[in-house]
Amino acid sequence: MANNNLTNFFEKYLTKDPLFLNKSVLQSSYVPEEILHRESEINQIANILAPSLRLEKPSNIFLYGKTGTGKTLSVKYTTSQINDVAKSKDIPILIFYVNCKLKKVADTEYRLMAHLCRELGKNIPPTGLPTDEIYKVFFNVIDSKKQIIILILDELDQLVKKAGDEVLYNFTRINSELKNAQISLVGISNDLLFADSLDPRIKSSLSEEEIVFPPYNAMQLQQILRERTKIAFKPGALEEGVIEKCSAFAARDHGDARRALELLRVAGELAERENMQKVNMKYIDQAEEKIEKDKVIDIVDAQPKQFQVVLYSVLSLHNPKNNAALFTGEVYDHYKKLCTRTNLRPLTQRRVSDILGELDMMGIINARIISKGRHGRTREITPSLSSTSKNKVVRVLDERLDLT
Ligand code: ADP
Ligand code: MG
Repeated sequence: MANNNLTNFFEKYLTKDPLFLNKSVLQSSYVPEEILHRESEINQIANILAPSLRLEKPSNIFLYGKTGTGKTLSVKYTTSQINDVAKSKDIPILIFYVNCKLKKVADTEYRLMAHLCRELGKNIPPTGLPTDEIYKVFFNVIDSKKQIIILILDELDQLVKKAGDEVLYNFTRINSELKNAQISLVGISNDLLFADSLDPRIKSSLSEEEIVFPPYNAMQLQQILRERTKIAFKPGALEEGVIEKCSAFAARDHGDARRALELLRVAGELAERENMQKVNMKYIDQAEEKIEKDKVIDIVDAQPKQFQVVLYSVLSLHNPKNNAALFTGEVYDHYKKLCTRTNLRPLTQRRVSDILGELDMMGIINARIISKGRHGRTREITPSLSSTSKNKVVRVLDERLDLT
C-alpha cells in the first residue's frame, strides 16, 4: 500500500463499526463475574479451605481435570473470597498462587523457593545459595507468627516433570517443623495421570482431598459463551447458530471452555478483518483451522533439529493423492539425505523410529507399529495434519532447516 493509501486504510478502519464491544472479555486472563456449572466444585473447595479462617490448617487438596474445565478460575475465585473475608476481619491468612508452567518462576525447586521468599519480602539471589538455606529463610519468615498459608501450585505436573517430586515431598513435610504457622497445599493438574506417577507417600499427603473437574458438555459451553458474548460483542453481531457451533467444536475433543472462547474470539477477528457486520458460521470453521495451524507450528518450532528433519522427511515423501503409508526404512533413507544437506550427523534408524513414535504422540503423524513376521517390525506412517497445516509446516521447516 502506498503511504496515502495506508492513511486512508487507517482512517476507514476507524470509521468502521467494530463487531466487538470489549474483546478482552474473551481473553483467558479475564475473570467472569459468574462461574456457571461449577457450584459443586467451588462448594467443595470452599468447605475444605474454610477452617483457615479459624486458623486451623485445611487439608491439602489435589484438583485435576482436562484443560479448560475451570480449575484455575474456580480456585482463584474461591481463594480471593477467603482473602477478602480474612482482610476485613484481620485474620492472618496468606495466599500464594504460583503457575508452575511459567519459566523462571517455578521450573526448579530453587526458583520456586526464591520466588516465594521474594513474595514474602526476602530477597534471594537468582542462583548460588544451597537449597537448605532458602528453605530456612522461608521457614523463619512464615513461622514468625501464627498464620495459615495456602499455597496454590497450578500446573503442578510441569514443576514435577522438570524438578522431580522432592519439592513436593519437602512441602508436605514442612508442617511438622513449623511451630506457629501451617501450610496447606492446593495442587492443580491438567494431566489426569499425574498423581499416579508420584511417590505413593507424596500422593497420599498431597491428595488428602481430591476434586475432579469434569469436561463441560456442549449445552454448558453454550451458556458460558452466551454470558461472555453479551459483554464481548455488540448486540446482533453473531449470526444464529454461531454459539452452538463453537460449543459443539469445543465439546468434540473434550469440553474445553478456553477452546470455545478462543474459537469465538478468532472468528470475530476474522469477520472483522473482512469488514463483515456479522460473524457467521464460515468464520468458525476458519477459526478452527487457524487455531489448529498455529498450535501445530508452535509444537514443530519447539522441537530439536533432528525431530524437524525426521518430520520433514515424512511430509516430503507423503503423497496426499493416495495417502499411502510410508515405512520406517524409506523415511530413514530420505532422512539421511536431508542430514547431508543440512550438515547434521544422522542418528541410527532405531533412534529415528523412536522419534517417529514421539511425533505420533504429539499428534503430528500416525506411526503405527506393525510386525513383518521374522523380518522384524516397522512403522506405518502417515501425516495427521490437515493439508493447509501441512503446507504451513513444510514452509516453516524449509526456513528453519535452510532447505530452500
Ligand atoms: P483450567 O484451569 O481448567 O485449564 P480455566 O479455569 O483456566 O481452565 O478456564 C479456561 C477459560 O474458560 C477461562 O477463560 C475461564 O474464564 C473460562 N471458564 C472456564 N469455566 C468457566 C465457567 N464455568 N464459567 C465461565 N467461564 C469459564
Ligand atoms: Mg489452569
